[in-house]
Amino acid sequence: MKESIRCIRQNIEKAANKVGRAPEEIKLIAVSKTYPVEAIKEAMGYGCKEFGENKVQELMTKCEVIGDEVNWHFIGHLQTNKVKYVIGHVALIHSVDSMRLIDEIQKQSAKKDCITAILLEVNVAQEASKYGFGIEEVPEVARYISKLSHVRLKGLMTVAPYVEKPEENRQIFSNLRQLSVDIQKQNMNNIDMAILSMGMSNDYEIAIEEGATMVRVGTAIFGERNYE
Ligand SMILES: *Cc1c(COP(=O)(O)O)cnc(C)c1O
Repeated sequence: MKESIRCIRQNIEKAANKVGRAPEEIKLIAVSKTYPVEAIKEAMGYGCKEFGENKVQELMTKCEVIGDEVNWHFIGHLQTNKVKYVIGHVALIHSVDSMRLIDEIQKQSAKKDCITAILLEVNVAQEASKYGFGIEEVPEVARYISKLSHVRLKGLMTVAPYVEKPEENRQIFSNLRQLSVDIQKQNMNNIDMAILSMGMSNDYEIAIEEGATMVRVGTAIFGERNYE
């Protein structure tokens, strides 16, 4: 794992340098879903401070053992009835994909008197199997969030299709970045488009070349997952 993480950091630096970006503006989110607490602790030993999980129960169990020493990122489809468990424990919810979910995050955050940072998940490739807003819906949704007291929109996220050649996803990443630039230009209250969460084990270097500020990497750090 030590070698994998070193190698990924080096690749991040190379990809950033290639397009004249500062490597420090890119955060590596270690996606620890399905992996045990021991694996997270090992990654912490190699300097990882940001961890991504996609199941509420699993996140809460790990969060209880490891605590707030690290930042937790929720990256999976979040059911509205489970929002109350994660509010106050996660640094960022990447995968906000419906108006109902936004309303529930606002409600639960107000109840706990905290402000929750979110990203909107965008289904750039318009895959029927994927969650997320359509590109054309996002400006309207952002405008809605700008009026909420306990939700802060920090940027956009996408899950690109699995492809043989990562280059095939370049246009998707580029489209997400263009969307974030367009929204930033509208200067809405409380809306900040600083974060672009895109790129996974297979294609994070291309995502960085296209402007990613957070890459979500699981397999390349922890190895193949076993879902049983
Ligand atoms: C599992 C997952 C990842 C990590 O995928 P890898 O291919 O293992 O790097 C990233 N983002 C989301 C939303 C995921 O569910």
